[in-house]
Amino acid sequence: MNFKRRKVSLVKTKVAIINDVRDDIEYIKEAGSVIKEGGTVAFPTETVYGLGADALNSEAVKKIFIAKGRPQDNPLIVHVSSKDLSYLVKDIPKVAEDLMNKFWPGPLTIILDKKDIIPDETSAGLSTIGIRMPNNEIALKLIELSGKPIAAPSANISGRPSPTEVERCIEDLDGRVDYILGGDRSDIGVESTIVDCTVEPPMVLRPGGITLEMLREVDARIEIDKALMKKPTDDLKPKAPGMKYRHYAPKASLKIIRGKNEKTIEIISEMLENYIDKNNKVAILTTDENLSRFNKGEIISLGSEKELSQIAQNLFEALRKCDDLGVQYILCQGFEEDGVGLAIMNRLNKAAGYDIIDV
Ligand code: AMP
Ligand code: MG
Repeated sequence: MNFKRRKVSLVKTKVAIINDVRDDIEYIKEAGSVIKEGGTVAFPTETVYGLGADALNSEAVKKIFIAKGRPQDNPLIVHVSSKDLSYLVKDIPKVAEDLMNKFWPGPLTIILDKKDIIPDETSAGLSTIGIRMPNNEIALKLIELSGKPIAAPSANISGRPSPTEVERCIEDLDGRVDYILGGDRSDIGVESTIVDCTVEPPMVLRPGGITLEMLREVDARIEIDKALMKKPTDDLKPKAPGMKYRHYAPKASLKIIRGKNEKTIEIISEMLENYIDKNNKVAILTTDENLSRFNKGEIISLGSEKELSQIAQNLFEALRKCDDLGVQYILCQGFEEDGVGLAIMNRLNKAAGYDIIDV
């Protein structure tokens, strides 16, 4: 679905930057009232910024889909400030309880069977719902003060890289939402890990800040959906609706070059020469360690290869910077799919439309 074709009536957006939750509590209260009254609020979380509305109010939730241009069959995650989920879901299996106790508040979304109190608009017609407790003081206060569970996808125009800084929310959503609460940049930088706890064995539907290794320490049965890292085909039915959409994409054409480090540098350099010869503007996304190996193009480091969490944190902002620079091509080296590397490669794969060159 193309968001440009949808009608978005411009609204006046209030922006408030929260420096200190206690000193600036009036703004969070005000944003909480906006949620209570059926409006939309963008807010910081530790994963990426979210665009929230009252998860129990179908009219409010519809505004999220319109503001983002989000396909209606892509469900939202419900954000809570307490572990008492009995009013939202039918049953809490032991694995879900163990995961909540270990990782909440934090970057883990748990899929459970929903009660009727959650409208179809929030779950996109599914009988299940994804729930998470964010590890961010502003987000938790907002949920608490609104008195509502808050449905929130990432606070970007659908298809674009998720915002990890408030400026990017403003860039995408000013005039489309009622309120934007700003805080620090998101420390995880990629969206939450999603685990479906309604199936046996429990299944990871989206990799994120909580790694498979960490999940398996809680329950060794947890599996990962095989379709996750592959290009979706018509016969491959994705388990999470979000898996089928183009996501996280910069305007430039992004290509991932994956292989042994020396070979990767060699191929990126060759491609770079080629594109520049044809008068293209090119960005290279690489690591601190490889930074000095390139001397042409816009060279951006995602962080040290020794700290994948840094790479995750910088990833979406780097993609947006490439667009600011107006490049036509982005050449990005691939990363090992271990730990948080799996989430990084999952986002990169999608952002590149699976344009991966193995060298
Ligand atoms: P976003 O918040 O935009 O990052 O997207 C939320 C993601 O959660 C999407 O990929 C959805 O497909 C997934 N999701 C949310 N709720 C469910 C659910 N009940 N079952 C499967 N996937 C879900
Ligand atoms: Mg998103």
